[in-house]
Amino acid sequence: MRAQTTRGKRRVVKNMLEKVEEFNMEKVIQEFETLTKDAGRVQRETLKRILEDNASAEYLQNLGLNGRTDPESFKACVPLVTHKELEPYIHRIIDGDTSSILTGKPITTMSLSSGTTQGKPKYLPWNDELFETTMQIYQTSFAYRNREFPIKNGKALSFIYSSKQFKTKGGVAAGTATTNVFRNSRYKREMKALQSQCCSPDEVIFGPDFFQSLYCHLLCGLIFHEEVQLVSSVFAHSIVHAFRTFEQVWEELCTDIKQGVLSSRITVPSIRAVMSKLLKPNPELANLIHAKCVGLSNWYGLIPELFPNAKYVYGIMTGSMEPYLKKMRHYAGELPLLTADYGSSEGWIAANVNPRLAPEFATYAVLPQIGYFEFIPLTQLENNDASSSFLSIDLNPVGLSEVKVGEEYEIVITNPAGLYRYRLGDVVKVMGFHNSTPELKFVRRSSLLLTINIDKNTEADLQLAVEAAGKVLAEEKLEVVDFTSHVDLSKEPGHYVIFWEINGEASEQVLGECCNCLDKSFVDAGYTSSRKVNCIGPLELRLVRRGTFQKILEHYLGLGATVSQYKTPRCVGPTNSTVLQILTDNVVKTYLKFNHLTKFKDSRKKTCPHCVLS
Ligand code: AMP
Repeated sequence: MRAQTTRGKRRVVKNMLEKVEEFNMEKVIQEFETLTKDAGRVQRETLKRILEDNASAEYLQNLGLNGRTDPESFKACVPLVTHKELEPYIHRIIDGDTSSILTGKPITTMSLSSGTTQGKPKYLPWNDELFETTMQIYQTSFAYRNREFPIKNGKALSFIYSSKQFKTKGGVAAGTATTNVFRNSRYKREMKALQSQCCSPDEVIFGPDFFQSLYCHLLCGLIFHEEVQLVSSVFAHSIVHAFRTFEQVWEELCTDIKQGVLSSRITVPSIRAVMSKLLKPNPELANLIHAKCVGLSNWYGLIPELFPNAKYVYGIMTGSMEPYLKKMRHYAGELPLLTADYGSSEGWIAANVNPRLAPEFATYAVLPQIGYFEFIPLTQLENNDASSSFLSIDLNPVGLSEVKVGEEYEIVITNPAGLYRYRLGDVVKVMGFHNSTPELKFVRRSSLLLTINIDKNTEADLQLAVEAAGKVLAEEKLEVVDFTSHVDLSKEPGHYVIFWEINGEASEQVLGECCNCLDKSFVDAGYTSSRKVNCIGPLELRLVRRGTFQKILEHYLGLGATVSQYKTPRCVGPTNSTVLQILTDNVVKTYLKFNHLTKFKDSRKKTCPHCVLS
C-alpha cells in the first residue's frame, strides 16, 4: 500500500466511521492485513502524526525535539515516564488550565481509571482520537470474529454500566474511560453497525444504581431472549457477577414477566418508566423461563438455555479475569468463550484477531496505527531489580518490529491524547507475529504483589496458587468465588494472608489442605528459602463471609469506579484501610499452614495433619 498522508489517513478513518452503517467486514480485514504487513513503517508514520499534531504542546516543546518526529530523536529526547511524573501536568489540566499542556488541542475530558489494580484512581487525558481508536479496535476484532462466528442482526445482552460523569474544579469533564466511550454520541450508531447493540435502554446503562441496572439488564435479556445473539461485558467479571445474581433473583424476574409489573426494588424513576414500557404481562414466557431454570443442573449451561440464539460469550477473559473462566464455562455450557481486546484507560493496544483460540491461549495483535508502542525487555527490568520509574533512564525499550518471539516485555505507550513513552505497567509475552505486527499474550501487571524479604510474587503467581488450591476445594464440589491477598507484617516474621470467599461449607480438613496447598504453590526460590529459615511465617488462609467481595465492589463504586472496568484488587496494602477493614470484619475462619519450625502448641492438629485451625 502506498504511504498515505496523515490527512489522507484521517479522512479514510473519518469516512469509515461516517459510513459505518455499511460496515464491510472484508474491507476492514483487508485494511488490517495491509497495515500489519508494514507495521514498522506504519509505526513511524503514527509517531510522526502524533508528534506533529501535538508539536505545540508545552510538554513536547520543553524536550527539544525541534520538529523532529523520527523514533530515534523521540527516544533520545523524550523520557520514559509513569503516571507519577505526569501528575503535575494532569493536575494543571484538571484545575482548569486550558493552554496546550500535553496536547496541541487542549484536553477537555479526563478518564478516571478504576484504581483497583494500583490502589487509587488515576486521571488520564481523553479526547476524540481515543474514541476513534476504540472504534478501530472494535471494528477490527469484530470483522475477524464475525468471519468465524457470524451473527445476524440481533441484540447483545451487554452487562455494561456507565459511571457518573462529573466536572472537576477546573471544569473538565471526568468519568471512567468506558463511560467516556458509552457517552459519545456516535457510540450507539457504531455498535448497531457491529450488530452488537445492547438490548437494554440507555436509562439502564446510565442508571445511578448498579444493582438496579443489573436487574434490568437481566430482565431486558429475558424479554428479548430470542433476539440475543451474544452475551458480553467489558471484563468477564461482570458476566459472572450477573449470572450469579440471576441465580438469586430469577424467580422475581419471572414474576415481573408474568405480571408485566416491575419489581418494587427498581426505584429509579427513569428506569421504572422505560422498563414499564418494555414489560408486558407474558405468562407464557415466564413459564418457559421458569421451566428452563428448574430443569438445569446446578445452572450448567444457563446462558444457551436462556438465549437459544446466542452464538458466543464475549468480554476480556485473560489476565486477572482468568480466575472467572471456570464459572463462565459453567454458565456458557457449549457456547464458545471469546476474549475481547487489549487496552486500558491510557489507550487501546491490540485486538483479538484469532477468536477461535480459547482465552487461555489468546493473543492480541497490536494495531500499529493507533499509537506508538515500545517494549522494555523484562530482562532489563530484572537486572535493574525494579519496575520503578527513577531507573527508567537505564532502560532501553525496543520498537514494535524488534521484539522477539518468546520474550516478555513491559509495554510503553505513546498515544494521541498526550501520553508520551508512558509505562503502562503491564507485562506481555510475544507469541508470534500477525504479518509484521506482534501478537501478544497478556502475562500480568508488572508490579510485585507479595514481597516480604527476598521473595517476589506477582499477580500471576497468586493466581496459580489459588488455582491449585481451588482444585483441592473442588473435591468438595465447591469453588472460590473471589480472592485477594495481603502481607501481614504486624508480627515477626511477616507472612502472606490469602482471603477467600467460597460458595458453601467446606470441611476443616479440606480447607486446611487448601491452605497447605496455597503455601506450597508459591514456588519462587526467594519465598521457599525464606519460609525454610522462617524469615517468612506460615501462610494464612482467611475465609470471609459470602458477599464480602460484593461489599468491596460497592466500596469502589462509591469512589467513582464503574462495574464495567472493575477488577478485584488482588493484593490489599496497609494503606487501603477501608478494604482491609471490610475483609477483616468478615473473616469467619482462619487457617495457618503448619510450619515445622514454628512452635505451635497445637491441640487442634488432629483436625488436619497439615494445618492448624485457629
Ligand atoms: P483500566 O484502564 O483501569 O480499566 O484497566 C486497564 C488494565 O486492564 C490494563 O492495563 C491491563 O492490566 C488490564 N487489561 C486490559 N485488557 C486486558 C486483556 N485483554 N487481558 C488482560 N488484561 C487486560
